[in-house]
Amino acid sequence: MNQKRVAVIGGGAAGMMAAIHAAYCGAAVQLFEKNDRMGKKLRITGKGRCNVTNDCPTNEFLTNVPTNPRFLYAALNRFSTSDTMDFFEGCGVPLKVERGKRVFPVSDKAADIVSAMQERCRDCDVEIVHNKITSIDISEGRVLAVIAGEKRYPCDSVIVCTGGKSYPGTGSDGDGYRFARQAGHTVTELRPSLVPIVAGGRLCQSMQGLSLKNVALKIVRRDNGKVAYEDFGEMMFTHFGMTGPMVLSASAHIPDVEKGIYDALIDLKPALDEQALDARIRSDFLKYNNKDFINSLGDLLPLKMIEPIVSLSGIDPRKKVNSITKEERKALLETIKGLRIPLLGFRSIDEAIITKGGVAVNEVNPKTMESKLVSGLYFAGEVLDLDAYTGGFNLQIAFSTAVVAGESAGE
Ligand SMILES: Cc1cc2nc3c(=O)[nH]c(=O)nc-3n(C[C@H](O)[C@H](O)[C@H](O)COP(=O)(O)OP(=O)(O)OC[C@H]3O[C@@H](n4cnc5c(N)ncnc54)[C@H](O)[C@@H]3O)c2cc1C
Repeated sequence: MNQKRVAVIGGGAAGMMAAIHAAYCGAAVQLFEKNDRMGKKLRITGKGRCNVTNDCPTNEFLTNVPTNPRFLYAALNRFSTSDTMDFFEGCGVPLKVERGKRVFPVSDKAADIVSAMQERCRDCDVEIVHNKITSIDISEGRVLAVIAGEKRYPCDSVIVCTGGKSYPGTGSDGDGYRFARQAGHTVTELRPSLVPIVAGGRLCQSMQGLSLKNVALKIVRRDNGKVAYEDFGEMMFTHFGMTGPMVLSASAHIPDVEKGIYDALIDLKPALDEQALDARIRSDFLKYNNKDFINSLGDLLPLKMIEPIVSLSGIDPRKKVNSITKEERKALLETIKGLRIPLLGFRSIDEAIITKGGVAVNEVNPKTMESKLVSGLYFAGEVLDLDAYTGGFNLQIAFSTAVVAGESAGE
């Protein structure tokens, strides 16, 4: 019997996993990566530590996938989060589970994940070709070859694993969407997700560079006060608005932020209820009894925050602390417990962790990842219209869809 020839485009998380599984099935696999190194994006995941998956059951996993979760059901059934853990531990990369069931290599090195996948590719004779694929040759509804400039590589199946459009410096700059459109596929609107948020007013600018830990963030709709997202943790102010882990996560819950309908509400002292915070303020006021108000908050707030908070409280900064009224103290307390910042939009897709949108999943078979329009054409990873919240879910999506595509193409 003739050996099946599979071409995989993209040497990232999905591409390497797809190539390995196509090779397991006995196919002759060529993996095309345009960078001179494999897994450039994978190397910077999880701040260089690679949050490789999330140690949760499938039903919980799917609640972390806001776009097309049902499409993933079969793929996660075939290759679950525990399969991912078994795979990497089987490759000699011990893993550990951290807060929020996030899974990382014990070494805290994303490079170990890349090396393990590269080694496995070598072990199962995947041929790595460092070349940029420019098009896919399709005739009479089936794939014939992939093309790299003047060079043509004949094949029986092609798996498109070119990633999204975010962080284009890593190589994922959207080629796969072009291939999909040329094959007749619909590509849904491409938008940033898990991305810094642009905020209005001069408030953020005046606090730029300030990192906050242990604060509570709520994103609320201005018209009805409905809470779109809430969390507790870290965030940072920048010249354009806000970023940091909580802010990136929040962005995935407010895709319509450009409409200007949301405010961020930050509780700077979530560990203290109103009564406890009032007691704390009164104790500071006693300590700084004869000082100007502006000089009384150094124990309570970071330096960069004092002026903005004083200004928002409406209290005269030069007023003596001993003459501040109960109502004024209440206004200060409310400002600290509910710093309100209007949200205007997202930073560009280049700065996003994930691309929302992609190859329309109703044109792809969820059990095989094969195109319903072109025989022998497969998609896996971020190029598909799938995205998830932070926590290792996005890499798991890449791995699960890749295993299914690799096995189906390689059989
Ligand atoms: C800063 C950052 C941190 C992240 N951290 C995490 C995390 O900790 N956990 C998590 O789950 N997710 C994380 N993600 C998301 C995760 O990296 C992606 O979901 C995942 O890499 C997608 O895998 P992929 O294989 O589909 O695409 P990619 O990993 O982007 O790989 C695509 C590859 O295709 C190649 N390519 C593209 N076009 C061509 C072409 N024409 N010819 C040849 N090669 C081509 C590219 O060079 C690239 O190597 C992070 C993302 C970023 C940007």
